[in-house]
Amino acid sequence: MKSRIWQLPVKQSNSTDHDWIHRGAKYHAFIDNESICGKYGQNTGFFETSIDEKEIQENPNLACKKCLALASDYYCNNCRNSRYFYNEVSVMAIKMIDNKQGKQHDKIMHIDASNVDNYYEENIYCYKCKKQVSEPITTFIEKRD
Ligand SMILES: [Zn+2]
Ligand SMILES: [Zn+2]
Repeated sequence: MKSRIWQLPVKQSNSTDHDWIHRGAKYHAFIDNESICGKYGQNTGFFETSIDEKEIQENPNLACKKCLALASDYYCNNCRNSRYFYNEVSVMAIKMIDNKQGKQHDKIMHIDASNVDNYYEENIYCYKCKKQVSEPITTFIEKRD
């Protein structure tokens, strides 16, 4: 699975050597150094403002609303597709052997889409650009009383 990093956006100041974080800043979901809401870009390996996704699951209000909404479903940060995704499965088919090596020789035939193997691949890909995407986040809504 492709990993998503929840990190506070860091503003780099030109006037000082200090990087700073805006008070009350929310955690954004970064994939390939870009927040999925499209607002921030930063080298996530460079800053130490990340928290574990578990923290976001338990406290969804710590997160940027848009990032959280997009991360709650499959979402492709590369082409902004939020609808069609796939994983790879294997199905039953036959491969023809023709002793006379005719046109049908070596052809994959009788593909049976109803006979899907149990070997589902773990990775999920974007149907549009084929980039691997992250598993959706599930949040625990706090129950009062
Ligand atoms: Zn965001
Ligand atoms: Zn895509």
